Amino acid sequence: MEKEEKVKILQDLIKIKSINGNEEEVAVYLQNLLKNHGIDSKLIQYAEGRSSLVAEIKSGSSSRVLGLTGHMDVVDIGNESLWTYPPFSATIDGDKLYGRGSTDMKSGLAAITIAMIELKEAETKFDGIIRLLATVGEEVGELGGRQLTELGYADDLSGLIIAEPTNYNLVYTHMGSINYSVFSAGKAAHSSQPQEGFNAINHLNEFITAVNVEMDKIAEEYPDAELGTTIHNVTVIRGGDQVNAIPGEASLEGNIRSVPTYGNDKIKAKLQEVVDKVNENHDYKLTLTIDEDKVAVQSDKNSILIQTIQSEFDTPLPVIGIAGTTDAAEFVKSKNKFDFVVFGPGVSNLPHQVNEYVEISNYLDMIDTYQNIAKKYLD
Ligand SMILES: [Zn+2]
Repeated sequence: MEKEEKVKILQDLIKIKSINGNEEEVAVYLQNLLKNHGIDSKLIQYAEGRSSLVAEIKSGSSSRVLGLTGHMDVVDIGNESLWTYPPFSATIDGDKLYGRGSTDMKSGLAAITIAMIELKEAETKFDGIIRLLATVGEEVGELGGRQLTELGYADDLSGLIIAEPTNYNLVYTHMGSINYSVFSAGKAAHSSQPQEGFNAINHLNEFITAVNVEMDKIAEEYPDAELGTTIHNVTVIRGGDQVNAIPGEASLEGNIRSVPTYGNDKIKAKLQEVVDKVNENHDYKLTLTIDEDKVAVQSDKNSILIQTIQSEFDTPLPVIGIAGTTDAAEFVKSKNKFDFVVFGPGVSNLPHQVNEYVEISNYLDMIDTYQNIAKKYLD
């Protein structure tokens, strides 16, 4: 495929507005592109207008599977007036291609798709299966990753490359994330007669004090060598109606960034334990809800997959951990374990920012790199 066509495909993808939805338009675009190059694919509907896509190419007789995955959704554009170029114009300025999703992660998505097409067109020999997994809703809870995993698409993987932007770093581990909320039911009363009611804010406050102590303890006692410590913050509080009334209801939300040394299940149990303790000896109760539950993931730092990638470079790439989560948090829930790495074009500190861009040279280089990795890995 000519360089100009590769750039145009990326521009086309950026021009499709898939802000937390509308991924089907991206999936259909990819499906047609693959079809024009003789590769069948399947759309897997998640919801109206939202479909993931799965495609495979095969060579030789081995049943080893290398997965290549990227998400098709992008985040909101933020304040449009701060963008130098309109966020869906896919404007090129020198080596930079600007637009929402250029780095996170339509360049990665385009690169793995084109890599597959070029391997197919060149009739490249390898031994196994290369499976493209393009997902919906990664930014809002890894919805497509979860659905594809439940449908078994990750069960037979030997290795998985998540093409999120890492700018020539190899990410073998990342933090998990838990969102939770606590609802405090009290009883409203006039503020001059507090004994007639039960102050929902006070009760919630007891929880905040207790949970901070427990989470600090976890952070201190279970650090992860690569990722650091568990991070916990109460980030939202609501409660009360007016200044001279005892609040009958209050609620809060908190976010936790978890590490493999103290997993999400343990953290959720700890939260419930704190709630139960605070509820003791009260008629009025706090209730805990887990709103999001993405696990921390860790792969083998010296896996065959990572060694294969390293063999493509004269100087070994840094092998690191990051705070943000990826679809790996869902794919690792497959029936069998596999090696994974996050490795893709784009600038790691640009996701979700205005004036997001990708370097075209980086994007084009990764198309070739993915092909070399796939050939060597499925040797
Ligand atoms: Zn992303």
